[in-house]
Amino acid sequence: MSDEVVVWLVGDTLRLADNPTLILACEQAAQRGASLVPVVCLEPRRWADQQFGLPRIGPHWTRFRVESICALEADLEARGGSLWIFADEPDRAVSVIQKTHRVMCVVADAPLSTEERLEHAKLESEGFSLLEAESGELFREAQLPFARDELPASFSKFRKLIEKKPALEPRPPLRIPELPDMPVCHQPRPAEWLEVQGLPVPASCEVKTRGGESNAQAHWQAYRDAHALSHYKTTRNAFHGAMNSSHLSAWLAHGCLSPRQVWADVLDYEAEVVANESTYWLRFELLWREYFRWYARVTDWTLFRRTGPENQSIAGDQNATRFRAWREGHTGSDIVDAAMRELSETGWMSNRARQLVASHLIYESNLDWRLGAAWFESQLIDYDVGSNWGNWAYIAGVGADPRGGRIFNLEDQGNRYDPDGTYRARWLNS
Ligand SMILES: Cc1cc2nc3c(=O)[nH]c(=O)nc-3n(C[C@H](O)[C@H](O)[C@H](O)COP(=O)(O)OP(=O)(O)OC[C@H]3O[C@@H](n4cnc5c(N)ncnc54)[C@H](O)[C@@H]3O)c2cc1C
Repeated sequence: MSDEVVVWLVGDTLRLADNPTLILACEQAAQRGASLVPVVCLEPRRWADQQFGLPRIGPHWTRFRVESICALEADLEARGGSLWIFADEPDRAVSVIQKTHRVMCVVADAPLSTEERLEHAKLESEGFSLLEAESGELFREAQLPFARDELPASFSKFRKLIEKKPALEPRPPLRIPELPDMPVCHQPRPAEWLEVQGLPVPASCEVKTRGGESNAQAHWQAYRDAHALSHYKTTRNAFHGAMNSSHLSAWLAHGCLSPRQVWADVLDYEAEVVANESTYWLRFELLWREYFRWYARVTDWTLFRRTGPENQSIAGDQNATRFRAWREGHTGSDIVDAAMRELSETGWMSNRARQLVASHLIYESNLDWRLGAAWFESQLIDYDVGSNWGNWAYIAGVGADPRGGRIFNLEDQGNRYDPDGTYRARWLNS
């Protein structure tokens, strides 16, 4: 048996900067005189799983995830370290490490939803000592002005509590810690890896989003340098346009960028350039993300049931023909069909378009809302359990919407946000 190690289970936080989980792992290694083994797991179960006959994970998310892992690996290697990559479940990966190293403890992000919670429980049931840190949210649980099980039932109540004077502020971003010794990984590269590594970004993507921390920072810098942030609120509803919204979602979802970093940079921009409704609005949208993350934690498995966390009755069936027409962009509604084709080809869709296609699936195709959420899960490059299932349940009226669901007039919306029809023409004629 060689040296003692602390295992840092990287999870969905694929970055070095502002990473409390990494900092906790380094502190543990220092206290115990141990080295650090950073571990990434490509869980076969997640790739093999299906829901409603659809794969859980699709090509866009996979490409972005692998790019982000490669970038983290390069960043660790530049610091003399190594990333241990397993095509396995976390408990099995840690057991493999245990064969050659004495595992002192495992450090991971606090679980977001049912799946991560079960993974952690499995590690603990196998006798590993598990420590959790909070890396993915703006606020730590202890900072919130309410107990977890008293999370407000609507976003606006949540936001008002956060913004009540003096407003709650995320703590400033943390520096990259000094990294301890990291044993070199001799694990073979997972075969699945080779299939996706180096795949091109689809030519049709308006923003050539590539995974990784430095790509995230470069994109975010370019967005601010172009002063797109100064008029974000007036452009964010557009269906296309590389600078109309921040396009940060994939980097935030894969943890290449910290939401606290984005928040702090917006405050700097406000101090140095301009503070207006648009700069505030980007932070407002980050609060939506924040709300849905806590909502996913609190509602747990009930978020995925048809009747939602409050067990409300809801119409909608699982008709295969109507579902296929929606997925493939053959509903007959121009704006829905254009957006669904964009999603399949690029893994991306604007927020406004996501709302419209969800409204169509639920209220015009009369389908079970979970089919739509499952399709988004497999297609989105920025899939995030809280934001996806939380938004779908909200629009379906079984989630956190006090108005009981959102029905959009699709023709009006299409003409309003795509007045010259270029977005619809772009995707319908391709
Ligand atoms: C049905 C539906 C499903 C969705 N699924 C996801 C998902 O799986 N992953 C995801 O990241 N977002 C999801 N969203 C939220 C939103 O559409 C995207 O975050 C946004 O379009 C990403 O573009 P952007 O980064 O340019 O956003 P911006 O407008 O620039 O917003 C900045 C950031 O705020 C957050 N944000 C913005 N709007 C929302 C919102 N409505 N809910 C939660 N967070 C928000 C995102 O992290 C985003 O990157 C969904 C929305 C709907 C209506």
